Amino acid sequence: MPKCVIVGAGPAGMNAALYLKRAGIDVSIIEKNIPGGEMLKTNKIENYLGFSEIDGGDLALKMSAQIKKIGVPIIKDEVLNITKKKKFEIVTKKGTIQADYVIVATGRTPRKLGVLGEDDMLNRGISYCAVCDGAFYRGLDVAVVGGGDSALTEALYLADLCNKVYVLVRKDVRANEILQNRVKAKKNIVLLKNVQVSALNYSDKLSQVILSDGNKLDISGMFIAIGGIPKLDFLANLDLNLKNGYIKTNDNMESSVKGLYAAGDVRDKDFYQIITAASDGAIAALSIKEDV
Ligand code: NDP
Repeated sequence: MPKCVIVGAGPAGMNAALYLKRAGIDVSIIEKNIPGGEMLKTNKIENYLGFSEIDGGDLALKMSAQIKKIGVPIIKDEVLNITKKKKFEIVTKKGTIQADYVIVATGRTPRKLGVLGEDDMLNRGISYCAVCDGAFYRGLDVAVVGGGDSALTEALYLADLCNKVYVLVRKDVRANEILQNRVKAKKNIVLLKNVQVSALNYSDKLSQVILSDGNKLDISGMFIAIGGIPKLDFLANLDLNLKNGYIKTNDNMESSVKGLYAAGDVRDKDFYQIITAASDGAIAALSIKEDV
């Protein structure tokens, strides 16, 4: 029985495991997919210290290799429910594990736009990941919805594959200056501010998007990058303090449930970066070490 179970093998979970293991605390990670989390969907990372430029998948591989090398098991399983008696009981698809501490590092899933046809057109024109699906739209016209770092990163990636990329921003752009300047420099990116997606035209595939200003754009693909929703359904039976659906923690990353910590994008905070997720993980691990 591990002392601590970490749910999620993104940068937060893996860095927590690194610090716990090095502190002599027995730890296992449970991850339902392959390790890496959102990093796996990012083609180019230029703001993770130590790597001036690295592919997200490569960084994920380096992290998981380091974790496996020091002997932390990354168990492929899905956590369905967590309850607390004396210890935490972590119910997974494959069984039940007990632990004294839990670190929730499950990240978040892409937020849906809520426009009619969005679900029907998934993989037939609608996508939430340019790195995963961009190649299907090579040479075609596409749109990206959103004005944050993710949307502009997606647009830049698609600009190298597609004929034209519209970026649809509902108010103003909030992405960082570097990304904004790169977008401005791309001749095939058209950035439209103060527009919302009103409707989609499609039959078997997406063919057109109708905007709130009445304009219609003929596109083959629409990539939605409007932020995310924290993944914490499996915590419904714990009395967790949440803010806007995110787990509220103290400075030690501990939630309102004693012994349950949160790290990374699942936590209520100001900055959602790989490096801040990793930092959360380290803080959670060191706080557990102090508490043991
Ligand atoms: P953000 O929350 O930063 O941005 C979401 C964007 O989507 C905003 O422009 C927002 O508009 C817009 N939006 C939200 N809901 C809707 C809607 N219903 N219709 C239309 N537009 C909508 O999310 P991101 O995923 O971009 O970024 C999340 C975090 O990850 C950020 O902290 C970001 O800095 C970080 N990140 C960093 C990267 C990097 O540094 N390389 C790459 C990607 C992400 P509005 O402003 O009007 O609310």
